Amino acid sequence: MRDFSNAKRIVVKVGSSTLTHASGMLNIRCVEILVKVLADIQNSGRQIILVSSGAMAIGVGKLGFPGKPADMPGKQAAAAVGQCELMYTYDKLFSEYNHITSQILLTREDVDNPTRKENLQNTFQRLLEMGTVPIVNENDSVSTDEIEFGDNDTLSAVVGTLTEADLLIILSDIDGLYDSNPRTNPQAKLLHQVDQLTPEVEAMAAGAGSNRGTGGMITKIYAAQIAQKSGIDMVIMNGANPKKLYNLLEGEPLGTYFPAHKG
Ligand code: GLU
Repeated sequence: MRDFSNAKRIVVKVGSSTLTHASGMLNIRCVEILVKVLADIQNSGRQIILVSSGAMAIGVGKLGFPGKPADMPGKQAAAAVGQCELMYTYDKLFSEYNHITSQILLTREDVDNPTRKENLQNTFQRLLEMGTVPIVNENDSVSTDEIEFGDNDTLSAVVGTLTEADLLIILSDIDGLYDSNPRTNPQAKLLHQVDQLTPEVEAMAAGAGSNRGTGGMITKIYAAQIAQKSGIDMVIMNGANPKKLYNLLEGEPLGTYFPAHKG
């Protein structure tokens, strides 16, 4: 049974394929609704931490490139451009509802190093006490293969652990986890609840994904592994209509629920 009525601290992860059009440009309608809903959920007494992708996709769109640059400095530069645009948009929209945003950019090193990790946890704690909405992304302009998380699904679960969140919601361009790939099999069935991440579940997740995001479904399963082990409930649901977040929090069985492993 799902009951998120006591979920006070919620990490919401939104991916590039939800935030941008196929052109790579920002999906303004989606972002506007998302921010409005998150601001309202925060007003209702919950705390929101937003893990947002989109830096690279938006940078590529803004620079007018036909696709992601092939080389690492090119990718890092595009992300640096896009991250500004992303935060500018979030800050502007959250301000309309009187909310203060804050930005945290991370690499894996920041979490692996105990001193940096502690600093980070203290900063998160303060930002939440101050009532801000922390907005998190990988620090793409400095991260390289050796030190990166690589995808924001994993990052969002790590952020959930660092902040001792109650619930992680991963907004995707698909309704949840299916028993086979729904893009190729019209008979594919949505799984409503996954208690244990067995090799069969991993096999179901393999292969599904979209073009503009990084992770696909398999990284969401890795995120669920981290979340369940850390005692955090997790849901994967479609982010196309962010108003559905209200329905989810009211108990409607949307998406795929991965209950936390307690105790
Ligand atoms: N950090 C990347 C970006 O903002 C996205 C990584 C991901 O989508 O998982 O472009």
